[in-house]
Amino acid sequence: IRVRPLTCTETRRGDQQVVHSLGDGAVHVSAARHDATFGFSAVFDAGASQEAVFEGSGMRQLVELAIDGFSCTVFAFGQTGSGKTYTLMGPFAQSGTQPASPALLGLMQRSFTCLLEQSRSRGSDLALSASYLEIYNEQIRDLLSPGPPCTLPLRWSKTRGFYVENQLSVEFESLEAVVSLLLQGSQRRRTSAHALNRHSSRSHALLTIHIRSRAAGACPSKQGTLCFVDLAGSERVKETGSSGELSLEANSINRSLLALGHCISLLAKPRGKRTHIPYRDSKLTRLLARSLGGSGITLMVACISPSSRCLSETLSTLHYASRARRVTTRP
Ligand code: ADP
Ligand code: MG
Repeated sequence: IRVRPLTCTETRRGDQQVVHSLGDGAVHVSAARHDATFGFSAVFDAGASQEAVFEGSGMRQLVELAIDGFSCTVFAFGQTGSGKTYTLMGPFAQSGTQPASPALLGLMQRSFTCLLEQSRSRGSDLALSASYLEIYNEQIRDLLSPGPPCTLPLRWSKTRGFYVENQLSVEFESLEAVVSLLLQGSQRRRTSAHALNRHSSRSHALLTIHIRSRAAGACPSKQGTLCFVDLAGSERVKETGSSGELSLEANSINRSLLALGHCISLLAKPRGKRTHIPYRDSKLTRLLARSLGGSGITLMVACISPSSRCLSETLSTLHYASRARRVTTRP
């Protein structure tokens, strides 16, 4: 769980701070009619640095596991403005350039650095490439391919599982190269945000690093992935999902998030009691099927605001994260 600081606007209008970290993974929410404590593997409060989040969330281990051939995924989840993009990329996403201070770099750039250090220390036996997609309104767009954005088909095969056809994967060997891919892709995502205001919070962005270790001698080669998912703002999930009323709009615009919540709820049940998991209900859940409940290893960072005004969204995110925490995979 990451609790961001109160923003200037929130402080100015006198919002109360209703979320407090109690240490040892406990987070306490207290407001007029609510008083609840939740337990997680780690809680980062407003004072936590980007580095502390990287080191304390298990992100470094995830990078190492991806090099060893596992499918690893990091999700940032939470309502719009809760700090998802900040956690993944740092404040540069807004300015379009790298932040002045390296201390503000997010989980993604820190992971790239860690990955490239490992790659260097192992000689040149790691082949690295990146792909970057966006899902909006159930359409998949390649954020790296040049020219006007086009929709890519999602297919399934016995050997590959679900995959995106004709998705561009760009090889890279340096930190500058991969950060520039991230910037390029995020800019393309941002441009569309100007055209349609709700776009950015209604689209999911998935950046995947493919890591192939070239076979040395008799060793078989290994292929791992490290996927970073910046999910769309979750605010509508509560309005529609938990009330059980699927309005037509939510059904088309926000189907992915609802499907994700549904899959997580079902996956959180004990294995014997599980029913069929409806991954096919949305593009997002199809793309993430393996990381959600299959052979992947997943870190979910739930971002919340400490403000009293965000109380109901915060509680909804904490409940969602508690369910996600009960999901087990078999890497
Ligand atoms: P989201 O991606 O969830 O919509 P953002 O990451 O864009 O939210 O964050 C919203 C605002 O809050 C941004 O201005 C961002 O810089 C700021 N912010 C978020 N998290 C933090 C943090 N941990 N420390 C300082 N500022 C933060
Ligand atoms: Mg964002």
